[in-house]
Amino acid sequence: MKPQFRPPVLGRRALLRASLMGATGAMLALPGARLLAQTGSAGASEAASEKGARLVLLGTKGGPRVGGTRSNPANAIVVDGNVYIIDCGMGVTAQAFKAGLDMAKMRAIFISHMHSDHELEFGNLVYNTWVAGDLRQKIDAYGPRGLADMARNYWATHSSDIHTRIADEGRTDPATLLEVHEFDAREGLVMDDGVVRVTALTTPHPPIKDLAYRFETPYGSIVISGDTAYNPALAEFARDCDVLVHETLFIPGVDALVKRAQQGEAFRNHILNSHTSAEDVGKIATQARAKKLVLTHFVPGDMEWITDEMWQKAAATNYAGEILVGHDLQNIALG
Ligand SMILES: [Zn+2]
Ligand SMILES: [Zn+2]
Repeated sequence: MKPQFRPPVLGRRALLRASLMGATGAMLALPGARLLAQTGSAGASEAASEKGARLVLLGTKGGPRVGGTRSNPANAIVVDGNVYIIDCGMGVTAQAFKAGLDMAKMRAIFISHMHSDHELEFGNLVYNTWVAGDLRQKIDAYGPRGLADMARNYWATHSSDIHTRIADEGRTDPATLLEVHEFDAREGLVMDDGVVRVTALTTPHPPIKDLAYRFETPYGSIVISGDTAYNPALAEFARDCDVLVHETLFIPGVDALVKRAQQGEAFRNHILNSHTSAEDVGKIATQARAKKLVLTHFVPGDMEWITDEMWQKAAATNYAGEILVGHDLQNIALG
């Protein structure tokens, strides 16, 4: 099954942009920069059916528990039809399908950190795209150390099926269609494909670290926090962005969460020390001078008694700008 295909319509502006990107690409010599033109992947010139940029919330619940009205963490950014996936929580493939994303135009996947609610369906997303016939050109994945191993192990786990399909159906080995780029904690450029420029900032998420990503598009900028403790450096990284997508924690819900999980003080401390309360998210948005704040990765994200209004009010104590309490499959357009 694949999303409804919309035939590309390449207008004069798109053709002009495509030719300009060719020129821009030649000038890029930054380490880590990956140019689609150099890898043989399709650039925006082949994916120009949709103009503009939008954020699509695929999964807005924080944590690995499956169920409720929200899917596990995942986002998409669509720029001139090119699809970029940020985090692959359980359900990301189905959510991408429901959102109508054209996965044949998926260009790259970004993983914020190696907690399962952000990477459990990484391999399956690539596999599902491949087996649907939509993975025909090489895509890139970016994330922390461990991501390349995860990909290798995934192909090994499914080698029987994959080899059968290669032999029986004449498919290309999917392992050759995915290039994983790992990087250590750092701040700086991750990818520039001539369509979007992506930078990352390492941010604390005890006991591990998280990568926040900033996407600069021709239509504006989007920053996605990933999972993070309160971090004023993130506000600096997100300075003047158009949309700040930030994880959020509702402090009065923590006790109920700990009780339901039948956990104790260690679990409670993990939640409090590794996430950002909705009130503090408001502070980050204000410090960043973000034009719009989108709340996501709700913890708890499946307790009906915590209403949208409660989330909104908590963040608004420290932020006077526009706040969107995110829900699955919402589209937020840039510009
Ligand atoms: Zn998470
Ligand atoms: Zn996490």
